[in-house]
Amino acid sequence: MIIKIDVLAVGAHPDDIEVGTGGLVAKFINQGLKVGVVDLTAGEMSTNGTTEERRLEAQRAAQILGVAWRKCLGLPDRDVSLIKKNIQALVEVIRESRPQLILCPYWEDRHPDHVNAARLVKEANFDAGLKRFSHHLSAHRAKYIWHYFLSRSVEPQFVVDVSEFYEKKRAAIMAHQTQFGESLQQSETFLNTGPGSMLAIVESRDRFYGAITGCTYGEGFITTAPLAVKNPTYFMGV
Ligand SMILES: [Zn+2]
Repeated sequence: MIIKIDVLAVGAHPDDIEVGTGGLVAKFINQGLKVGVVDLTAGEMSTNGTTEERRLEAQRAAQILGVAWRKCLGLPDRDVSLIKKNIQALVEVIRESRPQLILCPYWEDRHPDHVNAARLVKEANFDAGLKRFSHHLSAHRAKYIWHYFLSRSVEPQFVVDVSEFYEKKRAAIMAHQTQFGESLQQSETFLNTGPGSMLAIVESRDRFYGAITGCTYGEGFITTAPLAVKNPTYFMGV
């Protein structure tokens, strides 16, 4: 069931939000905020795992992070297109759940679905705020959109210290056993194999962002709108 939330985390595939922003999601929840998750697709094009296995893994990861709900929109994997039907499906979620912040992938990435997920969020959040957009639910637009990183990272605009929640993030990622686990049943992919596996990349990236901002693990974000700061000493750590 979709209930009202503070933060909506959107991913193209069932493991995206864990990889990109699992630490911040856990941190928000620890601070008492409600977080909902939308997976645009069921990830049916992935090399390993059936759709049903991936659905169960996503639910397990949602439990680990403590999100209020997790919903799969059921768009076709590798066809997250900017068509009206897809925009409307996301508008419906935004209007029902009424978040203040949407987390979604950074708009440059090796996976075209991640790129399109960022564009779809921008379109849907805009339309969701139009009173005359044809829909039965009342208008609502999230005030903020923050982009998290998946397979392409650039210099973040800000980094959130997620050190305290890193074990939870790791566990939520590894809940997707068919993707990140190493077993004889799984085909070797860049996600699950070797020193350059996805988990190694994610941990190194988050450790780097942590190191350059004075914490152990950090998640980086980009936003297109300036961040308003009431108290400038906040950035001085005062
Ligand atoms: Zn993905």
